[in-house]
Amino acid sequence: MTGNANFAAGNSEKAPFGLCESKKKELLEGQNPFAVVVCCSDSRINPQYLFDCELGDIFVIRVAGCVLDDVSIGSIEYALEFFSTPLIMILGHQSCGAVKAAVDGATGSRYLNAIVDRIAPSVEKVRKRGGPENSLWNDSVVENALSTARGLLKRSEVVRERVKKKELKVVAAFFNLMSARVELVSETLSIEGPAPKLVCYQKKDEIK
Ligand SMILES: [Zn+2]
Repeated sequence: MTGNANFAAGNSEKAPFGLCESKKKELLEGQNPFAVVVCCSDSRINPQYLFDCELGDIFVIRVAGCVLDDVSIGSIEYALEFFSTPLIMILGHQSCGAVKAAVDGATGSRYLNAIVDRIAPSVEKVRKRGGPENSLWNDSVVENALSTARGLLKRSEVVRERVKKKELKVVAAFFNLMSARVELVSETLSIEGPAPKLVCYQKKDEIK
């Protein structure tokens, strides 16, 4: 509450932005986010900071492990329908604990398992592909982000239709904590056609 009092008074000590009176009025009138970002709940990730954005710029869906269920897909469709947001980024990140749990085969409550179970097939896919064990974690993060993107295209007709009409792009990305850079791991995902061309971590011919 102290932090919010600082923010509201324009005396933020850590947040990179405050709200001037004109910005407050602008936000009150509505929003026009240029991107939907689906990312992990991890406290080390904050899309507004990572992309140097203000409030109102990015429509964020956060869930541990960067996975989607019906409710979060509904949130994405809300942004598309009401704000015609032209970009969806599925953003995995280095050192993701949820993906590590899937790599380790960890189990917990039914709710924790619901997350890990969604990530596990991506880990298996990377394992089958082979490759160095020390990159299994990061490669699984990348594969999981791609899998979430593909799953979104498969499940949401609203997303598919907008991609078909070229009103929307869906991309997968990886936040590298060490470099602080967000790296695109695929070109725009298409509904049909060849598998996405990966930009980093995996070679194109490794993607089945
Ligand atoms: Zn994470």
